Amino acid sequence: MKDSLIIAGPCSVESEEQIMATAQALAQIPQVTMLRGGIWKPRTRPDAFEGRGEQGLVWLREAKHETGLRTITEVATPEHVELALKYDVDALWIGARTVVNPFSVQQLADALKGTDIPVFIKNPVSPDLNLWLGAFERFQKAGLTQLSAIHRGFVYYKESPYRNYPMWEIPIELTQRLNVPLITDVSHICGNRELLQSTAQKALDLATDGLMIECHVNPDAALTDGKQQITPEELMQLLASLTFRSKQSGHVERDLAGLRGEIDDIDSELLQLLARRMEVSAQIGEYKKRNNVTVVQMDRWKKILADHVAAGEGMGLSPILINKVFEAIHQASIERQGRIMENEEEVH
Ligand code: PEP
Ligand code: MN
Repeated sequence: MKDSLIIAGPCSVESEEQIMATAQALAQIPQVTMLRGGIWKPRTRPDAFEGRGEQGLVWLREAKHETGLRTITEVATPEHVELALKYDVDALWIGARTVVNPFSVQQLADALKGTDIPVFIKNPVSPDLNLWLGAFERFQKAGLTQLSAIHRGFVYYKESPYRNYPMWEIPIELTQRLNVPLITDVSHICGNRELLQSTAQKALDLATDGLMIECHVNPDAALTDGKQQITPEELMQLLASLTFRSKQSGHVERDLAGLRGEIDDIDSELLQLLARRMEVSAQIGEYKKRNNVTVVQMDRWKKILADHVAAGEGMGLSPILINKVFEAIHQASIERQGRIMENEEEVH
C-alpha cells in the first residue's frame, strides 16, 4: 500500500476556494500523495469552461504551500509547459487528446528538454499501443528520465458501461515493453461514480502502481466531469475498501491477464474464421445443388486432411488434434450442405 501513488484532486481548478478546500481535505488522507488539478481543459465543443489558465496556477501553488501536497497538471502546448514550470508545478501529465498527435508530443518534449520533471503520459484516446510507445520515446530522446504511464481507457465502438473502455491488455503490454510505473485513472475510465470501486480493485489486482481519482468538495457543482468526481470523504472510504496486494502477486496477475487477453483475441479470430468457412461451405453446397454434384467427395477430403495433418506437424501440432478439429469442422460442413440439398436452407 505504501508504494502506491494516489493522485487525487479536481478535474479542473475552478476557484481559489474550491482548490484550497479540496486540497485541505485531501491532505487529511494519508494515502494521497499528489494533488491534481486541470488548468487548461481540452473541451469537445467551444464555449464550454476551458480552465482558469495562469490564475489557476497561482491557486494551485498556494494549495501546494498550504498542504505540502505535490502538484500535477496537464500541459498541451509549450506555453503551458513554460507557465507550469514558472509556478512550480511538481509534475506534468500529457492528456489523451494530445498523445494522439506526434507533432504536439514532440513540441512538448522539446519544451521540456533540459528539465527532468516527472512526466505522466496518458494513453491516446484510440487503442494504439505504438502511438503511446512513441510518446515515451519522444520524451526519452529529450532526456527525460522520470516517465510514468497513465491508463485512462480507450474510445470503443461498442456499447459499454464505461466512458472509456479499459482494454487492460494494452497498458499491460506497454509495461511489458517499457519499465515504467503504471497509474490507472479510474475516473476517466468509468465516467461515473458507481463503477469506481470495482474498476480500482481490478486495476490493483493487475498490479497498477497507483491510481488517479478525480475529487471535488462539491462534485455536483463541478464545472467539468461532475458525474465522475467524488468528495474527499468518499475517496477515503473508497481507499479503505480496496485490497492492495503485494507487488509480486499483482505482477503474476498482470502477466496472466495479458496472456488471457491474447487467448480471448485468438479465440475470437478462430470463431470468425469458422463462421467464414461455414459461409463458403454453404455457397459450395448451393453450387453442388445447382449442378447436381454429390455432397461428400471422400477422396478430396482425405487428401485435404492428410495435407493439414502434415502442415500441422510442421507447426508442432499433434495429428490427433488436427484430425479431431478438422473432422468436426468437416462434419458440420457436410450437415449444412446436406440441409441445402434437401432444400431446407437457402443461401443468399
Ligand atoms: C483529465 O484528466 O481531466 C483529462 C482531461 O484527461 P484525459 O486526457 O484522460 O481525457
Ligand atoms: Mn476530467
